[in-house]
Amino acid sequence: MKETVIYNATVIPVNGDMDVFPGGSVHIKGNTIQEVSPVRLEREGAEYVDAQGMVVMPGFVNAHTHLPMVLLRGYADDLSLREWLNDHIFPAEARWMTPENVAVASRFALVEMIKSGTTCFNDMYFFEEVIAREAKRAGVRCVVGESVIDFPTPSFRTADEGIARTESILREWKGDSLVTPSVCAHSPYTCSRDTLLKAKQLAETYAATLQIHLSETVAEVDDLLARAGKRPAEWLYSLGLLDSRTVCAHGVWLDAKEVGLIGLCGSSVAHCPKSNLKLASGVADVATYLGRGLNVALGTDGAASNNALDMVEEMRFAALLAKVRTHDPAALNARQALRMATLNGAWALGLGDVTGSLEPGKRADLLLVHLDASNTLPVYDPYSAIVYAMNSKNIRSVMIDGRWVMRDRQLLTIDKDEATASLLRLSSQVRSAPR
Ligand SMILES: [Zn+2]
Repeated sequence: MKETVIYNATVIPVNGDMDVFPGGSVHIKGNTIQEVSPVRLEREGAEYVDAQGMVVMPGFVNAHTHLPMVLLRGYADDLSLREWLNDHIFPAEARWMTPENVAVASRFALVEMIKSGTTCFNDMYFFEEVIAREAKRAGVRCVVGESVIDFPTPSFRTADEGIARTESILREWKGDSLVTPSVCAHSPYTCSRDTLLKAKQLAETYAATLQIHLSETVAEVDDLLARAGKRPAEWLYSLGLLDSRTVCAHGVWLDAKEVGLIGLCGSSVAHCPKSNLKLASGVADVATYLGRGLNVALGTDGAASNNALDMVEEMRFAALLAKVRTHDPAALNARQALRMATLNGAWALGLGDVTGSLEPGKRADLLLVHLDASNTLPVYDPYSAIVYAMNSKNIRSVMIDGRWVMRDRQLLTIDKDEATASLLRLSSQVRSAPR
């Protein structure tokens, strides 16, 4: 079995003690981390990778996204969520999101994600089996779920068909080493009580993660209060949808009682700061959520509302916004922000024993980050450099499940030129079609 020793590195394992090991090393055997050491390790027969000037850290976990929406990056900007979705995104998806086009867009999204250090992502969309196949081929870990919703979509006509598609994906990908199938209900404002309950039942049957957009805008809260007399998290709680396998994307407008309910049930929040800013949805008070014991992860949302899939940017926005939200510069420090972008994401997705930190027994999902660079030096504290100074171009190499998918900025599992040419062909069709 192939063995690798990465040495001469500043190792940031994102473990319980938030250690930093200058001059440390990581020993990998097959797809698994054997040892993380503060000193140089010698292992006979191993490939040695000199990481002088680099940080070795866990890859980013993007806890909420929609890969194929890269096709619609910049398609409709500067609009409210409702207008953006109903007048632009939903019609464009109905027209353009065929299985073939979902494959093209997803492949291109994976280029951006690998280059910006994402080693695991959580996707909710249509034709998720296509996205799963593209991720598997690119060697990227993921959690995938068909976005069940109460109106016709590119991949199904009714919510029941959406549930059936979800179940077939759950069966097809069960036990895969990289792809974890899940259940997704789009939101409380697009799914009836009946649909939400069916989604929950399916998640229970397959012991799968249940993902849902929750409390993204004030309008969503007001509508649900008028319709059901409950706020979004209260509504899910009353239906039995909240438990430790539930991931609530956004959670911008949770009140104190809702935060209490989510904490009580052990559910996670996937904070998406840039998307919330761009759609003017609001700024989630994640420092308070964390203070009350919630597991808060980080997601980019889709590239049509971000407009990037770059977790480095997302992490920095999260840290900075928490400070201005609370008028407290100590809110969400660099260590907490990095933890949200890695380990908290893994826990949210039910993969806390698999990825999100560099610890023996976990899969080798890691980044080599060049901090000996003009935009990061001097480095007094590597956490500070990673959260407040680095950008995705500092990420030189990416390993997922023990396999290099990028080395020295060269992608090894995706033909970037082909992926780009296909995306450009498709986007020129979108551009020239009447809206
Ligand atoms: Zn979303």
